Amino acid sequence: MSTNASVLPGEHLRALRAALHGELFVPGEPGWDDARRSWQVLVDQRPVAVVVAADVDDVVTTIAHARRLGLRVAPQATGHNARAVGGLDDTILLRTSRLTDISVDADARTIRVGAGVQARAAAVAAAEHGLAVIAGFAPTVGIVGFSLGGGLGWLSRSHGLAANGIVALEGVDAQGRVVRLDGDNGADLFWAARGGSAPVVVTAAELRLHPLTQLVAGGMLWPLERLPEVAAAWREWVGTVPDGVGSLVRAMRFPPLPMVPEPLRGRAFAAIEVAIQDDPDAAAALIAPLRACALRRSRHRRRPATARRAVRGEELRGGADRRIRVLPRGDDRAAAGCGRRGRSRRTHPRVATGRLSGIGVQRGVC
Ligand SMILES: Cc1cc2nc3c(=O)[nH]c(=O)nc-3n(C[C@H](O)[C@H](O)[C@H](O)COP(=O)(O)OP(=O)(O)OC[C@H]3O[C@@H](n4cnc5c(N)ncnc54)[C@H](O)[C@@H]3O)c2cc1C
Repeated sequence: MSTNASVLPGEHLRALRAALHGELFVPGEPGWDDARRSWQVLVDQRPVAVVVAADVDDVVTTIAHARRLGLRVAPQATGHNARAVGGLDDTILLRTSRLTDISVDADARTIRVGAGVQARAAAVAAAEHGLAVIAGFAPTVGIVGFSLGGGLGWLSRSHGLAANGIVALEGVDAQGRVVRLDGDNGADLFWAARGGSAPVVVTAAELRLHPLTQLVAGGMLWPLERLPEVAAAWREWVGTVPDGVGSLVRAMRFPPLPMVPEPLRGRAFAAIEVAIQDDPDAAAALIAPLRACALRRSRHRRRPATARRAVRGEELRGGADRRIRVLPRGDDRAAAGCGRRGRSRRTHPRVATGRLSGIGVQRGVC
């Protein structure tokens, strides 16, 4: 167990603990290391104390005690951006991870999320109504932290940044007052919060939703050494597709752990991932240049028919995802033309199932 040189004075510690509905952790006590750990495990966070707020009152209480003691308060949902918080010697780390209420107003096309809600949960709740929230490429990112920081997601080319879709923020200001920021209340602060730094500890946010009843999503992998040509092909391709196509190219290295599916385990890939707001046939046509490994070879030999068959799509089972279509399970034809040698085609045309922002995804390995 780790300890921290800064210690909350005993009487204040007892008073704060007694006033909270949630939990308080201080150095040297059981649970301390878990409480201070962020998603970025390499960031060694050592605040004076960690409060895991159970409700808005806990945020008010924490700010009041921090003011009395001359301490800072740093809100954190998941710690995906923990590095940015900096030194925490004089700081109470305020975890919002228990503030997970979600409600959808389908008529108004808005979702109200507690500050601890992650992208996947928000996406799934919205999908129940045929709606979608602007969420990023990782399902466990906090949707509030993501939106406050700008928020570039799968739907951003057609629907903008998440920050632009914030309808209102509820929070607690530095004086401990519960406030609501929107176009009519604290308009300047509201403007600054969207893409800047929130001037309050946000306890909940209202976000705009967008109609989305069908999405084809998936990824393609190539051996990492092909990254330069994959990236070049993606760059050429991305300028030709409509705004309803979100995509990214990246290098992915999978650890040699048993939990990683065999075709991926311990291997590194160049990856292109796509989310296409259209039906499977249209999506197949759009990605045909990539799927047939558009790269050097397909400039000479296009295979639209093969690619169309390869992405005919299948429905996901389960309520929230019912309207989402995904690429089919391992289809050798999908890999045809992608592998450099016949042997690697036979060995690796497999599929790993993953999740992106609440959207079912399958990856074919070429
Ligand atoms: C694996 C990964 C994938 C990512 N993918 C994308 C992506 O696709 N698109 C994209 O745009 N970004 C992406 N990001 C960046 C991500 O959006 C930011 O790191 C974001 O700040 C994470 O928010 P969080 O709440 O999860 O993280 P936290 O570290 O908990 O919070 C980050 C910051 O947000 C602010 N904040 C959080 N909660 C509150 C609150 N309640 N009140 C006031 N301020 C608050 C604080 O300044 C805090 O330091 C990614 C990051 C990672 C690590």
